[in-house]
Amino acid sequence: MPPRYYAAVTCPACGSRFQTPVEQILDVRVDPEVKGRVMGGMVNMSVCPSCGMGGPLNLPFIYHDPEKDVALLYLPMGIGNSEVERQKAAGTLTRQLMNAMPMEERKGYLLQPETFINIETLVKRVLELEGVTDEDLEHSRRQRELLSQLITAPAEQRETLMADNVALMDEAFFSLMQYTLQMAAMGGPESADFKQFRDVYEYIVEHTETGQLLQKRTEVIGAFAENPSRESLLQALVDAPDDTTVTALVQSGLNFMDYAFFQRIVRRIDAAETPEEKERLSALRRLILDVREEMSQAGQAVMGERAELLQKMLGTDNPLLMARSHLSELDDTFAYVLRTELEEARQQGNQQMLDALQKIARVLSQVMEENMPPEVVLARRLLMSPSEEQTRQLLEQNKGLLGAGFFQLLDNLEASTQQEGNADAAAQLAQIKQLAMQYAPQETAQPTPAQASAQPRPQPPTSSETQTPSGLIIAKH
Ligand SMILES: [Zn+2]
Repeated sequence: MPPRYYAAVTCPACGSRFQTPVEQILDVRVDPEVKGRVMGGMVNMSVCPSCGMGGPLNLPFIYHDPEKDVALLYLPMGIGNSEVERQKAAGTLTRQLMNAMPMEERKGYLLQPETFINIETLVKRVLELEGVTDEDLEHSRRQRELLSQLITAPAEQRETLMADNVALMDEAFFSLMQYTLQMAAMGGPESADFKQFRDVYEYIVEHTETGQLLQKRTEVIGAFAENPSRESLLQALVDAPDDTTVTALVQSGLNFMDYAFFQRIVRRIDAAETPEEKERLSALRRLILDVREEMSQAGQAVMGERAELLQKMLGTDNPLLMARSHLSELDDTFAYVLRTELEEARQQGNQQMLDALQKIARVLSQVMEENMPPEVVLARRLLMSPSEEQTRQLLEQNKGLLGAGFFQLLDNLEASTQQEGNADAAAQLAQIKQLAMQYAPQETAQPTPAQASAQPRPQPPTSSETQTPSGLIIAKH
């Protein structure tokens, strides 16, 4: 397992003590989502499970983007009482980052990360690296402002507000509205906030060109997704309101785009009633072919990168470290490249290569499991178990995992394999479930709601704790 760190936090509002996971190494290649979290200033946020009070913990971390050869160190003022202590903390983080990477990929810039004492400055640096300009930021700030104005303004002022801000109401604005709507929906579909906001949203969709376009896009793509076939794909493409919709349809309908599909397009072009319609459909056909070609080239490029990664893993002393450090690249394409190479080695009778590739396959499996919840790992192993005896042994060893969540997972897996028409796997899952029930603890000890919400008296931080500006108290390591 890659190391995980927890901080013991005391809630300043209700005094609850809880453990919260702490991120120290944020590597874009391991988890591409860290980029968005850093840009949103959402690193090491903690929320009290009892009362919901939350805020940033202001703990040091290191951000690493291997593609850009950039390492950024966040070392807030409160860390360490002297310069020596601060340097020590910086050194520890840098070393952790280095140790998480295979030897041959450790580069000089890692030893001298750009250091930030202020999180806003670090966020700005990441935005700059990502090519987000001050104008972009100003644009989205004004969009958020407009949205809150629209939500609070009396209905009769909406029209003027919208007319004055046409330039702000682009697709990003609609994404922001959808996000806000989802957040409001979490307060319940009957909540006043949600209802009011939904009204505003519907009004804006109805009264803007972008809103109409996006609605049409959703409709057209939805119609194909509901009933996917060559015919429904073609109809959706013909109905598509813009090129973005066509691109999305080509991406999701690739499997239907065979010879027969293109014949249908040609027939449709031939049957067009006006020269304009004929020209429009011909242009559509060219666009479809272009998008498909672009996708195939992009796919080839990724395939090449994954083949390169496989070579690196075969060549390194520490394939496990290499795999962990390239986690986000261990995708379906990587698995496909590995399978293809295994097949080839088998056919050529190249035992040495076969052994080396099988070792990589085991590493891949290990890293995948490291990043799955333990219940999923157990289900996966049970499915691969060769005998009932071994299945029983696995269940005996993992009694602690056989709770409601595990059985829910089995039910979901059984339902989805059933749907995919894989009757054998479904039957195997049903059998696993039968056996698992024999091993499941009779009573699962769960905290009662009363226990969970028990509110100890708030206490001031002790000498071994520090209080962050947000008020959350962290035990020192
Ligand atoms: Zn609390």
